[in-house]
Amino acid sequence: REITPKGIGSFAVAPIPMGTIVATFGGTFLTEVDFETYPSERRNRSIQIDIDQFILGPESREPGDSINHSCSPNCQMRNATQLIAMRDIAVDEELTYDYATSDISQYDEFECACGSDNCRVRVTGNDWMNPELQSRYQNIFSPYVQRKIKAAQSARALTKRDVEVLMNSYDANPQQALTRALRIVTGMPNATWKSLVAQDSTALEDRELLYSADQSCLDQLAEQLNERRTI
Ligand SMILES: [Zn+2]
Repeated sequence: REITPKGIGSFAVAPIPMGTIVATFGGTFLTEVDFETYPSERRNRSIQIDIDQFILGPESREPGDSINHSCSPNCQMRNATQLIAMRDIAVDEELTYDYATSDISQYDEFECACGSDNCRVRVTGNDWMNPELQSRYQNIFSPYVQRKIKAAQSARALTKRDVEVLMNSYDANPQQALTRALRIVTGMPNATWKSLVAQDSTALEDRELLYSADQSCLDQLAEQLNERRTI
């Protein structure tokens, strides 16, 4: 249904009891490198389900794509791809969920027009880090965002001692030494090399080189980690 000023929205045509599945997001599985090649209109209809794993929505809009954000939502993610009613929803009520519970991408920032008392006004890709939202939404973040929150809580900068360990073990096995250091800075103690690189690296074009353990890229990463350490 058309609405101003949001454009288009989804409305209940029958009463929806709490817990009912209202949408299931599906589509094509992509890595971030492939995902970035699609236009933003298409990327807006997507969901990130893990580090370097995106589900891109189909070419044409589907009903679930029209569910707007609200800072006081009536729906929530049940798992990585399913949206359920978080309370009973009456006929003609607009279906909404808080995008911060599943979307942490920077390109999706917008001015919110939900009009609720606790409206954040500007919705950003960093809202999941907001302590107030974390306590309000505790268990209703998508599994991927919950893992991000947990990792962020245990992530820390390398100390001088950590860098010494990195440098001392570097020549024998650079990738293993870097894995240890990256596990500390990302707060992901069991993550694989690929996940660590995807999580930490900002330059997408360096990822493939790091995946294949390109020596000069490894050296560069070790240098960066050294520069980022605490005094
Ligand atoms: Zn709002």
